[in-house]
Amino acid sequence: MKTIGLIGGMSWESSLEYYRIINEEVKRRLGGLHSAKCILYSVDFEEIETCQKNGEWEKAGRILADTARSLEAAGADFFLILTNTMHKVAAEVKASVRIPLLHIADVTARRVLADGKKTVGLLGTKYTMEEDFYRARLEAQGIKVLVPEKTDRDLVNTVIYEELCMGRIVNESRVKYRRIISDLIERGADSMVLGCTEIGLLVKPEDSSVPIFDTTLLHAQGAVEFALS
Ligand code: GLU
Repeated sequence: MKTIGLIGGMSWESSLEYYRIINEEVKRRLGGLHSAKCILYSVDFEEIETCQKNGEWEKAGRILADTARSLEAAGADFFLILTNTMHKVAAEVKASVRIPLLHIADVTARRVLADGKKTVGLLGTKYTMEEDFYRARLEAQGIKVLVPEKTDRDLVNTVIYEELCMGRIVNESRVKYRRIISDLIERGADSMVLGCTEIGLLVKPEDSSVPIFDTTLLHAQGAVEFALS
């Protein structure tokens, strides 16, 4: 079994999910008392989020690159960045180490295509929904990406940072997300990508009439698949 390196803490609420899913998946595949070999480096999210707000992406990239080097030195065979948004600096972080990065958008695209879906509705932070670093990676695989209108993007983004990343699961926000999901389906989405690692804490498959791709689940399962290959 390979040792999985995890850059987490963004937020720690979703890193907990990764840790749980990775271990459950190893147990499911290997049985007995098997559990995952993994190293979690959890950063201070306040520092990262301040960089995001100030547009200091290079600085955030340096913090994550230092973290990746620590994971490599500690013996990780490959690593994951446990947030969609911070894949904005994935190339820089990846370049700072020799071990491979399992990119969250690649794992997601593979599953979307394997399930025969062509047009996804994408929910995530404003960076993930509005910028190219994530969408273009899906589009390069031939997947069409729809995002909510501006006011709904703001709503989705606010719920992520002011509720989910603070550990608050608010039922009214789930209702709002459901409406936004329906709108995307009406516009042609045949599936939904939960492109933020906390959204799965709020939105469940029953909140959508089309299949949901939860990036946390797919990324964590993908890590186990790679670790055992
Ligand atoms: N975890 C979130 C994501 O997957 C948002 C937090 C962050 O800004 O990294 O995008």
